[in-house]
Amino acid sequence: MERYDVVVVGGGPAGFNAVKTVRRLYPERKILLINDREDLQIPCAVPYVVSGVISPEENRYPLGKVKDMGAELLIDRVVSLNVNDSSLFTAGGKAISYERLILSTGWVPRRLNVPGAELKNVYYIDVSTSAISEIAQKVKEAKSIVLVGGGFISVGFADLISRNMSGKRLTVVEASNRIASGAFSSKTLEEMEGALKSQGVEILKGEKVIGFEGSETVERVLLSSGKVEADLVFIFIGFLPNTKLAVDAGIDTEKGFIKVDRYLRTSADNILAAGNCIYHTSAVDGEFTPGMVASVSARDGRIAGANVSGPQVEDTGVVPAGVTEVGGKFYGFAGYTEELLLRKGFSFKEITVDSADAYPMALSANPLTVKLYFLKNGRLVGGEVIGESKIVSSMVDFLSNLIAAGKKPDELLSLTTVAFPPITPPPLLQPIQEGALRFLKEEF
Ligand SMILES: Cc1cc2nc3c(=O)[nH]c(=O)nc-3n(C[C@H](O)[C@H](O)[C@H](O)COP(=O)(O)OP(=O)(O)OC[C@H]3O[C@@H](n4cnc5c(N)ncnc54)[C@H](O)[C@@H]3O)c2cc1C
Repeated sequence: MERYDVVVVGGGPAGFNAVKTVRRLYPERKILLINDREDLQIPCAVPYVVSGVISPEENRYPLGKVKDMGAELLIDRVVSLNVNDSSLFTAGGKAISYERLILSTGWVPRRLNVPGAELKNVYYIDVSTSAISEIAQKVKEAKSIVLVGGGFISVGFADLISRNMSGKRLTVVEASNRIASGAFSSKTLEEMEGALKSQGVEILKGEKVIGFEGSETVERVLLSSGKVEADLVFIFIGFLPNTKLAVDAGIDTEKGFIKVDRYLRTSADNILAAGNCIYHTSAVDGEFTPGMVASVSARDGRIAGANVSGPQVEDTGVVPAGVTEVGGKFYGFAGYTEELLLRKGFSFKEITVDSADAYPMALSANPLTVKLYFLKNGRLVGGEVIGESKIVSSMVDFLSNLIAAGKKPDELLSLTTVAFPPITPPPLLQPIQEGALRFLKEEF
């Protein structure tokens, strides 16, 4: 049986970064990464491939780079773990022992169990290059596409396909009353929906898909209140943690995710876990948050990698956050959403600041809107950023860190942020500081 100091199972952003971190911090360790597939796509950019903006060749996931870092790569499926003698077994017949194991087995798509889901041209997302190339070709040929589920991923697909490909009927079917995973305020969602509609996308909210019809290939999507013609269907109704390997080995789970402590150690000796498969807690309130995004997985991988030699880096929780693009604008959010604040029954104040992503206006400045949510005691707990440039993602990251630190308006007033005409908001209208000032000025 071959022995390694560190074995990582799953080579997505969590596993890749775990390997990189172990290699950097503990260069003497013998590392093996096992992934069941080799020719993968970068998942975040799959919507750009499917809508023809970039080619599958331009979006290959760099799994093989772990070999350049000095780790070994095995393309095989791990089928079982023996946590008592620190060993694992693969579908290809290999038996491998480890001193430390990191499980980063990721996600699987949530399935829709309705009649007709097995018809041809009904797809779930699969990030292998062959699957994405096939889907990209199907999208080119399709006349009537139905996206089942109106979350972040569907919205991204609908936007990119409708802006980059003409002559297609696109329908998004969402069971709840909010698209984009409920991450934005009603006003922002109205704006996003308006943009999608103006690009020809039909959005059906509060509608359940109850089946698919067609002879061999899908022809219609059956809804709770009618039907829609379709020659291509994508089902994006969420991700589930891929935990079968851990569960079969007797590792503890919670809400279906692998349970970890603050150093990402599982209930089994010498086994850590990272990424979409683990139970995350929110840095805002310590409660459960799915955290099923690449940015969180990449972070987890670094934490788990650093902790293979014992507790070094503590996981202090994640701030739920994300960015999407609709109609050429970027929409970002961080922390508590309007929907969550209302559901939790919190008394909160929403402050919206209209600023710009550059100054003066003559330097091609575009509007930048920042919405901040403060609790009654002044704590900043959430926000939205809407703009037309890359500044949106840095503002979201900045907000996330302020939210995690539990900042209040008086502390926000004294923040320093850089100012440089072509790329920052004007120093006279820095959105977060301005929002804090308005909070202090206004009656609650
Ligand atoms: C279309 C799309 C767009 C997205 N856009 C964004 C975005 O813009 N921003 C963002 O932050 N996130 C985005 N995401 C989510 C992001 O891709 C995932 O959160 C991220 O890939 C999870 O990383 P991970 O390392 O935890 O798991 P994964 O990426 O799922 O990697 C796990 C790997 O482990 C392998 N594996 C599983 N079990 C075994 C086993 N037993 N043996 C061997 N190998 C195994 C799997 O095949 C997989 O390759 C998007 C996802 C999709 C599908």
